[in-house]
Amino acid sequence: MTKHESAGNPSSGLIVSAHGRHYVVEIASGELLHCYPRGKRGKLACGDQVMIERSGDQQGAIIKVQPRTSLLYRSDRHRQKIIAANVTQVVVVVAAMPAFHEDLLLRCLVACEQQGVKGLIILNKTDLIDETAPTAVQLALYESLGYTVVPLSAKQDVTPILPPLHGQRSVVVGQSGMGKSTIVNALVPDAKARTAEFSTKLDAGKHTTTGARLYHLDPDTSIIDSPGMQTFGLHHLSQPDLVNGFPEFRSFLGRCRFDDCRHTVEPGCAIAEAVEHNEIDERRWNAYRELTTELENKPPEWA
Ligand code: GDP
Ligand code: ZN
Repeated sequence: MTKHESAGNPSSGLIVSAHGRHYVVEIASGELLHCYPRGKRGKLACGDQVMIERSGDQQGAIIKVQPRTSLLYRSDRHRQKIIAANVTQVVVVVAAMPAFHEDLLLRCLVACEQQGVKGLIILNKTDLIDETAPTAVQLALYESLGYTVVPLSAKQDVTPILPPLHGQRSVVVGQSGMGKSTIVNALVPDAKARTAEFSTKLDAGKHTTTGARLYHLDPDTSIIDSPGMQTFGLHHLSQPDLVNGFPEFRSFLGRCRFDDCRHTVEPGCAIAEAVEHNEIDERRWNAYRELTTELENKPPEWA
């Protein structure tokens, strides 16, 4: 430890691994420190910019978290689960096999819109399908909404996703089995080795193998690998957040008969009319209405 970094002299760092209350923080020199938050503070996330105080060799205490530009989370019945902080893009990995849940994709994109970050969709395992496959057709809708869809066969070549990743901090999310690990391992060939290094060096064992993990691809580009998920709860959103989650609704807002229109069953609803005129896809409106019902019936602890 140099004099400058000695205990009591805070330095800034980046959380590159998060699991429970255990964090791995990368400091300017590139060194990795095993850190715990000091005191009682809210959950921190991979991608958080923090101030730390070293407490020993390769160890430290997180004393402050810097303001975030974005914070992506999902909720389950009881609580929020932070996925990542300060990302500029969410990459959702889907595949034709096993079948992917469109609902999960839609929810991830709503969360993205709510945080004002870009959404990118990877259609993986294209070696198993062609462009007439139902999955590919299904994704055309998202492309028409402005999301970039990158067809990929991660087993053969991941280079098609390098341009849309460049200059971004992307969190990679997806249902298990879609090929997320294959993609991350191809982008970061030593990902597995680095995970082992985190674990042994910091003696954190099981703590550092299952959480989110940030990797630098180049000085301007990083990706955060997050654990596979099967559900994506949106209980934490408000009704306006939800409306905002559907970018194609925006140009129709403010044109409904009632100022407090919820765009579900109200007469004179501009969104419903747009659906009727095929200006908004009916699948999306149905999904919106289902999510609205879900928000209205959320568990009392979320209300
Ligand atoms: P994860 O659960 O999303 O991390 O998925 P994995 O990366 O573990 O991949 C799940 C399965 O899909 C594995 O058997 C992979 O070998 C396979 N897989 C991943 N990418 C491709 C691909 O591009 N084409 C094919 N055919 N299989 C793939
Ligand atoms: Zn309306």
